[in-house]
Amino acid sequence: MTESETHSTGSGQAKNCQNCKKDFVIEPDDFAFYEKMKTPAPTWCPQCRLQRRLNWQGYRILYKRKCDFSGDMVISTHHPDSPHKVYRADIWWSDKWDAKSYARDVDFSRPFLQQFKELMQEVPFPSLYTAPSTMVRSDYCNAATECKDCYLCFRISGGEDNAYLNTVVEAKQSIDCSFINHSEMCYGSVRINKCYQAFFSQDCEDCNEVWFSKDLSGCSNCIGCINLRGQQYHIFNKSVTKEEYKKFIDELDLGSPEALQAFQKRVDEFMKGEPRKQFHGRRNTNVVGDYISTSKNVRDSYMLNNGENLRYCQFLKDGPAKDCYDYSFFGEQAELMYECCWSGWNARNCKFNSWLYTGHDVEYSFGCPGSGNMFGCMGIRKGEYCILNKQYTKEEYEALVEKIKKHMIDMPYKDRLGREYPYGEMMPAELSPWTYNESTAYEWFPMKKEEAIAKGFNWRDEDKREYKEATADILKCSLCGMNYRLIEKEIAFYQRFNLPVPQECPLCRDRARIASLNPMAIYQRTCAKCQKPIDTSYAPNRPEIVYCESCYQQEVA
Ligand SMILES: [Zn+2]
Ligand SMILES: [Zn+2]
Ligand SMILES: [Zn+2]
Repeated sequence: MTESETHSTGSGQAKNCQNCKKDFVIEPDDFAFYEKMKTPAPTWCPQCRLQRRLNWQGYRILYKRKCDFSGDMVISTHHPDSPHKVYRADIWWSDKWDAKSYARDVDFSRPFLQQFKELMQEVPFPSLYTAPSTMVRSDYCNAATECKDCYLCFRISGGEDNAYLNTVVEAKQSIDCSFINHSEMCYGSVRINKCYQAFFSQDCEDCNEVWFSKDLSGCSNCIGCINLRGQQYHIFNKSVTKEEYKKFIDELDLGSPEALQAFQKRVDEFMKGEPRKQFHGRRNTNVVGDYISTSKNVRDSYMLNNGENLRYCQFLKDGPAKDCYDYSFFGEQAELMYECCWSGWNARNCKFNSWLYTGHDVEYSFGCPGSGNMFGCMGIRKGEYCILNKQYTKEEYEALVEKIKKHMIDMPYKDRLGREYPYGEMMPAELSPWTYNESTAYEWFPMKKEEAIAKGFNWRDEDKREYKEATADILKCSLCGMNYRLIEKEIAFYQRFNLPVPQECPLCRDRARIASLNPMAIYQRTCAKCQKPIDTSYAPNRPEIVYCESCYQQEVA
């Protein structure tokens, strides 16, 4: 979102982004938040901050590498050539090593973040970002907790018997879905909440057995439907008898990729003529952004549920999250979070962190689960009052942190492009253990290598691999050429529902689902019915018929 596209509420102070040199505005509400968080106003614009922050999550690209503790081969998000030390996740979470043994004093003759960078080069990272004690037979999942019999599922809390899911709260027996909560036996669907058997559907809630549908609520047995509420037995939005519906489904043979594509095309044709709401979401008050539900006073945000008083927040899966700015992933009891990535589960008053499960008053730290009052720390579990992994008393800590904050302003870290990171800026992307193209940033803002490097991000060239031609056991992706295999449960699923075997690899399928969403941007458009100006993530040149909220309600309710 550039500033011209964000939602302004009043007079603000114009600033020039230190990174992209575009102007952005800090509004009175924003200043009030920064004051509450005791942080200076940012020097980067919201969009540049978002990209920098998302570079702090690498969750999806897995490698085989050695565990630097046990010597075992492990699956990891850290490339074997990465300069970081990596411990198998269960070892990382154990008492077999002590993060405080890496303690060091603060050197006031050098930038503080330089010293934090050096700490990160010595303290081990976990191979995977799971809570290993909660994972059962789910070795190839990451950013995951409480999973049983899951395969290649990411950013998932609570799952059983799933494969190829991305960003999930509680799902069962589902395959190939993204951004789904509390759902069961779904396939090929995106942004689904409380559904049972949603196939190839988007933005549906409380639905049973819906196929190729969009924006349905409380519906069952619908196919190719859009904008319905509390309906059953509908085909292309037309009411049919139960028998007619059953006959239609029985005769619909989607067992080949060609048939599936042809039917999807029919659905797309039909939906072209149907209006879309300016915004995806339900039960909101005073919300601007997209894919937001059950929220209040949320602006310039994307893909979140149960939020209150938020701005520039993204991907807070199930909430609640309250009083946060610039916070990406994942919420679940979080408040007063600012410039944090991949943090939550009882997190409070945290700034400039990545990967923090449960914590309070943590700043400039990575992976300090269950800790409070940490500044520039890594890998400390359930600690209090540490700086650069060194233990202090409460009084020593408080005095030293004040001194460091001032020092960070007087002598900020400079990255290789000369950009400065005084106290109040998120950690530089160049310190992230993941390169741009390994991170979430790349999924939402894809760039070529040259561009990413010119913008100060790190990059990893793809490993040279020879892919085999497809055989009975091993398939070859029709898009990227990568080999992939089918697992038993998915074969059974395809057979049960007469679905073809996918022609693309899991990663390409995942990326296609993300690409099917409206972008993380707000545009000005006019309502196709009443011509009122609206804020929407449908770019003005898109072909959809977009209605304002009230025209949409009149049409749909
Ligand atoms: Zn900028
Ligand atoms: Zn592929
Ligand atoms: Zn209207």
